Amino acid sequence: MHPQRWGDPARATALPDSARGLVELAFGLEERPAVTDPVVPPSALDPALLAGLRDLLGEEHVLVDDEVRRVRTRGKSTPDLLRARAGDLADAPDAVVRPGGHDDVVAVLAHAVEHHLAVVPFGGGTCVTGGLAGPASTRDGYAGVLSLDLVRMKRLLAVDPVSMTATLEPGLRGPEAEALLAGHGLTLGHFPQSFEHASIGGFAATRSSGQSSAGYGRFDAMVVGLTAATPSGELTLGSSPANAAGPDLRQLLLGSEGAFGVITSVTVRVRRLPEVVRYDGWRWPSFADGATAMRTLAQAGLMPTVLRLSDETETAVNLADPDRIGTDAAGCLMIVGHEGTAEQVRTRHAAVATVLAGLGGTDLGEGPGRAWVRGRFDAPYLRDSLLDVGVLVETLETATFWSNLERVHRDVTRALADALPGALVLCHVSHVYETGASLYFTVAAKADADPLAQWQAAKVAASDAMLDAGATITHHHAVGTDHKPWLAREIGPVGVQALRAVKASLDPTGVLNPGVLVP
Ligand SMILES: Cc1cc2nc3c(=O)[nH]c(=O)nc-3n(C[C@H](O)[C@H](O)[C@H](O)COP(=O)(O)OP(=O)(O)OC[C@H]3O[C@@H](n4cnc5c(N)ncnc54)[C@H](O)[C@@H]3O)c2cc1C
Repeated sequence: MHPQRWGDPARATALPDSARGLVELAFGLEERPAVTDPVVPPSALDPALLAGLRDLLGEEHVLVDDEVRRVRTRGKSTPDLLRARAGDLADAPDAVVRPGGHDDVVAVLAHAVEHHLAVVPFGGGTCVTGGLAGPASTRDGYAGVLSLDLVRMKRLLAVDPVSMTATLEPGLRGPEAEALLAGHGLTLGHFPQSFEHASIGGFAATRSSGQSSAGYGRFDAMVVGLTAATPSGELTLGSSPANAAGPDLRQLLLGSEGAFGVITSVTVRVRRLPEVVRYDGWRWPSFADGATAMRTLAQAGLMPTVLRLSDETETAVNLADPDRIGTDAAGCLMIVGHEGTAEQVRTRHAAVATVLAGLGGTDLGEGPGRAWVRGRFDAPYLRDSLLDVGVLVETLETATFWSNLERVHRDVTRALADALPGALVLCHVSHVYETGASLYFTVAAKADADPLAQWQAAKVAASDAMLDAGATITHHHAVGTDHKPWLAREIGPVGVQALRAVKASLDPTGVLNPGVLVP
């Protein structure tokens, strides 16, 4: 992916005419072209160290050319895109190394420790929290920065159809993993919005959550075992479906964002490919009514596969065909999806529909569900088109218990609206549990002369509001560098001390993803 934009260049589009009119009305249009071909600083890696790496991996798997380093620079948050659009690629890695398997990773880590090279594991590069930032351009005392690109590690290592598990290498992108599993009639069921580009290792390292999490669970809930290479040695974890053998060390690696080790394989629970999928839309008079309905389903054990609820503003914007605003765009749209055998889908659909109708929801049929499925991976392309015309767009997310959901929704919306006067603040419930839910906010505002600083102020305000209201700093985007101050607040000084102790134990010289995760 190009550092200035999302995804497949062939799918990039100008702002559609329908949206253009609305954007012009809300913010005005101001073309803001990105700097073309931003310059990548030259690789500062000592030729002897480069030669050492090439001895380990082969010439063709240690790359220093500008284009390869350019596309391994940072992730895909709006600040990442804005910096790249302004021509700033100052923290491009010095080299991109591509191990072919676990032993290659071990060898690279040993070389990195010996020569004090920073190593940034790179899966799909879709991180939105600064987790691929690497040390500062001064290199912070490191001899250089390596992007450890897991792109060659793409095998399906094992399938156990009796236990319903599969072991995957970390470099498989979402669609590649699904295609391999489909060959066995299986699916992982993990479909985050970044699915088309993000990797298995990245899902594990960030504790990602997909759009079908209500039915299939979060990625960390799918992982039954993993292997990781650390500078202190190998960790192989998960010899049983569940155990009481002390604290669960798998959880130390899940969400460790490359700071504790490189995940070299993941064993996941898999499901049979669904025979039938059915997604419906439901309308609710208010966000509170829809949230109550979600809670009722979750607590009744009637969880669909997909369950999402847009607030009033998001519903109006998503239906924003200018002719429809103020008419059937009123209220809040819920998407309810079921996947499974024909019989499972039929009975679950009927049971869920009965509950929703009884709570006052209006059944909109399959039309909105189909529309959601069609567009579920498109929003990131729209973000690029909006940035092109001077609209600042970014997302953030959190989670809290049901009893606190309304407060968090209100306080974070208000913090963003106060920090960005005139902004549109949209929200949806994106993941649902028996005890609570995740809220996902999208913000659009007219970009000022310094959109990076403009967003930073809003991000601080929203993050403070989340913690002040008792919610978490992140439900699924992870910590990276951006969330570290709030993580420290969330887990407290003893929590920070424990994370630092793990880091010191597994990565004593601090070569793994320096500056990420550990406050
Ligand atoms: C448009 C967009 C939509 C998104 N939607 C969602 C969503 O719906 N749900 C969600 O959960 N997230 C979402 N994200 C965030 C992001 O896609 C996830 O965090 C994803 O899990 C990252 O995977 P990746 O392979 O791209 O990892 P990368 O971005 O390559 O890496 C992420 C972090 O993990 C580390 N890492 C990567 N691979 C390994 C490994 N094998 N071992 C150790 N460390 C490793 C990296 O060093 C980095 O710190 C979205 C991001 C974007 C840009």
